[in-house]
Amino acid sequence: MEKTFAIIKPDAVADNHIGGILAMAEAAGFKIRAAQMKHLTRKEAEGFYAVHAERPFFGELVEFMSEGPCVLLALEREDAVAKWRDVMGATNPANAAEGTVRKTYAKSVGRNCAHGSDSKENAAIELAYFFPGTALL
Ligand code: ADP
Ligand code: MG
Repeated sequence: MEKTFAIIKPDAVADNHIGGILAMAEAAGFKIRAAQMKHLTRKEAEGFYAVHAERPFFGELVEFMSEGPCVLLALEREDAVAKWRDVMGATNPANAAEGTVRKTYAKSVGRNCAHGSDSKENAAIELAYFFPGTALL
């Protein structure tokens, strides 16, 4: 069974959408293998998004991801990485399909309420970054 790493971002936590997003994950067949509420430091957010360090929105992204608590998740199902990207919808909620997490809850391309790993390799790296020692449960 494949695992992916997901985050319910600070906007969705502040707007009381933890339950709604977890319900969408469960309805899509995911098992929640690990879950932790955590207020990321700027350093943790910078480290996590290091691949975007040169992008013009990096400062805004780090600020957003450390503005309040988020929920870190290890999600498991068949084809978990691709399936969670489908369930989340496009990065910009304006382009996200009806019924996706981002279409339902996100307000803008920056404040887009959820993260999902973009490859199996990155899922393994991201799970190890936030759930050291538990990624293989
Ligand atoms: P995804 O989260 O869909 O994998 P990216 O990896 O391209 O998208 O970007 C990481 C995060 O950076 C996005 O989820 C979003 O929060 C933020 N972001 C992406 N593009 C923009 C943008 N044009 N302006 C502001 N923030 C952005
Ligand atoms: Mg990405």
